[in-house]
Amino acid sequence: MHVERDYPEIREAIAKLCEQFPGKYWQQLDRESAYPSRFVHAVTEAGYLSIMIPEEFGGSGLGLSAACALLEEIQRSGCNGGACHAQIYTMGTLLKHGSEEQKARYLPLLANGELRLQAFGVTEPASGTDTTRIRTRAVRDGNDYIVNGQKVFISRAEHSDLMILLVRTTPRDQAEKRTAGMSVLIVDLHQAVGNGLTIKPIQTMMNHSSTELFIENLRVPVENLIGEEGKGFRYILDGMNAERILIASECIGDARFFIEKAANYATEREVFGRPIGQNQGVQFPIARAYAQTEAAALMVSKAAQLFDEGKTCGAEANMAKMLAAEAAWFAGDTCVQTFGGYGFAVEYDVERKFRETRLYQVAPISTNLILSHIATRVLSMPKSF
Ligand SMILES: Cc1cc2nc3c(=O)[nH]c(=O)nc-3n(C[C@H](O)[C@H](O)[C@H](O)COP(=O)(O)OP(=O)(O)OC[C@H]3O[C@@H](n4cnc5c(N)ncnc54)[C@H](O)[C@@H]3O)c2cc1C
Repeated sequence: MHVERDYPEIREAIAKLCEQFPGKYWQQLDRESAYPSRFVHAVTEAGYLSIMIPEEFGGSGLGLSAACALLEEIQRSGCNGGACHAQIYTMGTLLKHGSEEQKARYLPLLANGELRLQAFGVTEPASGTDTTRIRTRAVRDGNDYIVNGQKVFISRAEHSDLMILLVRTTPRDQAEKRTAGMSVLIVDLHQAVGNGLTIKPIQTMMNHSSTELFIENLRVPVENLIGEEGKGFRYILDGMNAERILIASECIGDARFFIEKAANYATEREVFGRPIGQNQGVQFPIARAYAQTEAAALMVSKAAQLFDEGKTCGAEANMAKMLAAEAAWFAGDTCVQTFGGYGFAVEYDVERKFRETRLYQVAPISTNLILSHIATRVLSMPKSF
């Protein structure tokens, strides 16, 4: 089956690179709960993680649509872009809102792979999805902020040089509105660990290098503040739209992985003297998964296009993430069913991808919160919170 897709040259090149990282590579990492350093290194070396960094800073200067094609193809080939996707969107916060000095200091090093900006610290144990209630506090002391607080589920903090950290510089009850009074800091993780920052790994259902951060009197230079103090929430919203669209494209890649696997297996596997895929009970769910995936892919593509044109894309980014995550989950479930017992055997990679793609109905934003956004912001129904 051949389908025309955008950015064929990027897709072809990254698919070739991914061939060096077959299922066995990921299965072993899973067993050892290890970070895919060799994969991330190869993707970095090939220049893909700097795909959206402007050319003047040493990147490729392409848009989000190109980055979507890249991540989709990584997932479709069975690899896991979750190990390194963050740099593509966290970099955007720095690029859009950082000072000229900050951009000159970090972007060329991110582009050439010397530095990794793979960690994005927003979620906290007590606030959960309700970001405006974060308690991690930064208080000014001369040329530094002194930061205290806790973050949870912060992925890749042990494998990154820098972290974008969301803190409160004004307590919520003293801010002019609940979304005000938050600020974004760039934290140098090498300097921070052992000097106020403790990182503890969290074991999760899939191999995702997630961690908990304990922050006690961590000093962060004021020069590491991105943009203006108190406006951090607005700065990360932009990044969050990019994150949702990119993750949606990863879900499309996951769905395509499952559909391809399921269709091939259903065609080859013979039971009762004929291919199982000849039974409509087996083939129809795969066809349905395909239809759902193609529909979701159109929304992802629309959201990415709006983002690249600098247009408002909150609703589309959310819908793309929700539809793509659901399409991937349905395709994964269908793939497991099609494989029968073999769907549970590690060597086929179906169960691994099934676990990996489940995440995206919860993170980076859960389906309920997306539905709430559509209901209240798009359809103007009353807010429940
Ligand atoms: C593997 C993994 C990696 C992650 N990586 C990062 C990271 O790198 N950086 C980061 O900052 N965060 C990260 N997260 C955190 C993730 O973004 C949060 O888990 C997610 O936003 C949900 O927050 P919570 O877990 O506190 O759930 P809660 O906010 O406690 O919500 C629990 C459930 O209740 C539902 N719910 C809550 N309030 C409402 C409501 N008003 N109406 C309807 N339903 C509601 C939610 O939809 C959800 O299903 C990661 C999480 C995981 C699991």
